[in-house]
Amino acid sequence: MFSKILIANRGEIAVRIIKTARKMGIQTVLVHSDADTGSKAWEMADETIHIGPSPAAQSYLIQDRIVEAVRQSGAEAVHPGFGFLSENPVFARRLEAEGITFIGPNPYAIEAMGDKITSKKFAAEAGVSTVPGYMGLIESPDHAVHIAAEIGYPVMIKASAGGGGKGIRVAHSETDMAEGFAAVKAEALTAFGDDRVFLEKFIVNPRHIEIQVLGDKHGNIVSLFDRECSIQRRNQKVIEEAPSPLLDDATRKLMGDQAIALARAVNYDSAGTVEFVAGQDRSFYFLEMNTRLQVEHPVTELITGVDLVEQMIRSAAGETMAFGQDDLKINGWAIESRIYAEDPYRGFLPSIGRLVRYETAEEGEHESPIGPYTVRNDSGVREGDEISMFYDPMISKLCAWAPTRAGAVEGMARALEDTHLQGVGHNVPFLAAVMDQDRFKSGALSTSYIVDEFPDGFHGIPAGPLQKDVMVACAVAMNEILAEQSGDPSDRTDWIVLIDRLPIGASVSYDDDEALTIELVGEDRALRLSDIDWRPGQAQFRGVLDDAPFTAEVKRIADGFDIRSRASKSRVRVLSPHVAELFARLPEKVAADTSKLIQSPMPGLVVSIAVTPGQSVKTGETVAIIEAMKMQNIMKAERDGVVKMVGAQAGDPVAADDVLVEFE
Ligand code: ADP
Ligand code: ADP
Ligand code: MG
Repeated sequence: MFSKILIANRGEIAVRIIKTARKMGIQTVLVHSDADTGSKAWEMADETIHIGPSPAAQSYLIQDRIVEAVRQSGAEAVHPGFGFLSENPVFARRLEAEGITFIGPNPYAIEAMGDKITSKKFAAEAGVSTVPGYMGLIESPDHAVHIAAEIGYPVMIKASAGGGGKGIRVAHSETDMAEGFAAVKAEALTAFGDDRVFLEKFIVNPRHIEIQVLGDKHGNIVSLFDRECSIQRRNQKVIEEAPSPLLDDATRKLMGDQAIALARAVNYDSAGTVEFVAGQDRSFYFLEMNTRLQVEHPVTELITGVDLVEQMIRSAAGETMAFGQDDLKINGWAIESRIYAEDPYRGFLPSIGRLVRYETAEEGEHESPIGPYTVRNDSGVREGDEISMFYDPMISKLCAWAPTRAGAVEGMARALEDTHLQGVGHNVPFLAAVMDQDRFKSGALSTSYIVDEFPDGFHGIPAGPLQKDVMVACAVAMNEILAEQSGDPSDRTDWIVLIDRLPIGASVSYDDDEALTIELVGEDRALRLSDIDWRPGQAQFRGVLDDAPFTAEVKRIADGFDIRSRASKSRVRVLSPHVAELFARLPEKVAADTSKLIQSPMPGLVVSIAVTPGQSVKTGETVAIIEAMKMQNIMKAERDGVVKMVGAQAGDPVAADDVLVEFE
């Protein structure tokens, strides 16, 4: 076994690898860029070596620097994590040539599977079912249109070198095809430096299901079963689970056997993933093989009890796998939520900055009304850390395990409720909304789930009965606590609680043990709020409602509170019946009509404005391009219209919500 390994990665995956290395008694060396000096992984590693400036192209991607760091530290092997150099056969070969062990598969397997066209040919030869399509290279838009007619629309256009959801587009018609072909080719060239493009049938309403495989250098290969990753946004995974709710044992076995056959065809000797698209009828087709540890590997670890990083290290060191297929079983259910620094209320735009507050569900076992669940949180950041613009804006991977799927969903909902982030925008409310949806609970997933369920984007979901109870209880309790603190407690017991503007009558009394009883007037039931943990200024309100513990995010405003319970946010006021009556007569403040405006979604620089006053514009036409955080955001018309006014020009700096274009 190795005594020292080098980690050529950063963030949560570096932390993850260090944890296993420690457990195995292996010393760790972490290479890092400027931005990662002092990071959580940096603090945990036994040794650290600075390898360059923050941009990955000047640090994590420079092979010479990594090799130099290996030499300098005397490490015997390199774990590449995912992304960066993890699927680069040149790097794997180079290490081999220098006598350094690559903790991953052999370079031949990486090469054969690294390219979508080549890997599809391998898969077809190994007897794996592949998506019907054209395996050759497509030369021109005309050629593409011709091939697409043979395949039959809709057709997917894909970059052979693609990854991370980039270089993929659907075409529904000849026009789409001619346009999309050029677009994917151009995108592939900039993103991957390789503009080869191919076509395959677009499987309608599919699910993404993948098989985790594991091999050693002695010809043993096993399947660690399936994961389903159908909850995607723009072809990128957001929520994953294991096992897949779609599969029955027979399909699971078929997919596992095909994945093993493909792995065997390239002498696969590490952890890897064979990805499939599956129809709702459980038909399935090979997509690609990822020859690395996958982002969502924790859910597989949770249901199999196998430490995949440990197995990668053991097989790289030449050990024979200590278990066979028959020793592996699926135990319970696990779900992973990717928590990102992005603002779900603003079209999921990246929202980076300092993580001023980072409080998360405690790892380990918990109880819920429907049974026990276990929380795991893989994170590379601590409170006070900066979420940097240089890398993926992932904050953590929050996982919940339970004996059943329903238990895991409930566990995840609770773990999300126990997660509090401030300083950056984050997608926790969005993830909470999904956990709350009957469709998600029923397991009726599809890769179009997010588009189907949130067609107009995410704006929170209306408070349901449970959320309303939480809001009433929090608001009443905060009102009492504030009144007491002001030194002027009233002895009023009857209140009107307005949730947004909906009135709920509440009659409040204290139990002996400082719990509040809130009778809901006209509903003939009472809420019992105990174990109140809140003081003025605190952003979280914790308590136990009837028997269920909860946490809500609260903020005091001039005449009430803004309260978020799970995915619902409301303005809540506690008023005397008299004031409530006056309040009801106040006109509701009407939000400004922004439907005719195209506004800058964030601070940035105007790259171009594509329209002039008087011009007619059709839905989907580009009207402006804004550059922010090195990304170009294309602003499109959301409806047909005539331009009335243009509010900025190329080169102008703009703030969030600045008007770029106004329609008549
Ligand atoms: P997973 O299936 O593990 O989620 P992803 O495709 O989302 O895999 O990629 C995992 C990580 O690797 C992400 O950080 C992604 O940005 C990066 N990545 C994957 N493929 C490429 C590629 N071809 N070029 C650059 N980065 C990539
Ligand atoms: P990447 O390398 O970017 O991960 P994949 O080939 O794995 O690319 O595809 C990413 C996602 O795009 C899949 O998870 C699936 O949602 C969707 N997808 C890919 N190919 C097809 C197809 N032929 N039909 C339908 N959806 C597809
Ligand atoms: Mg993929």
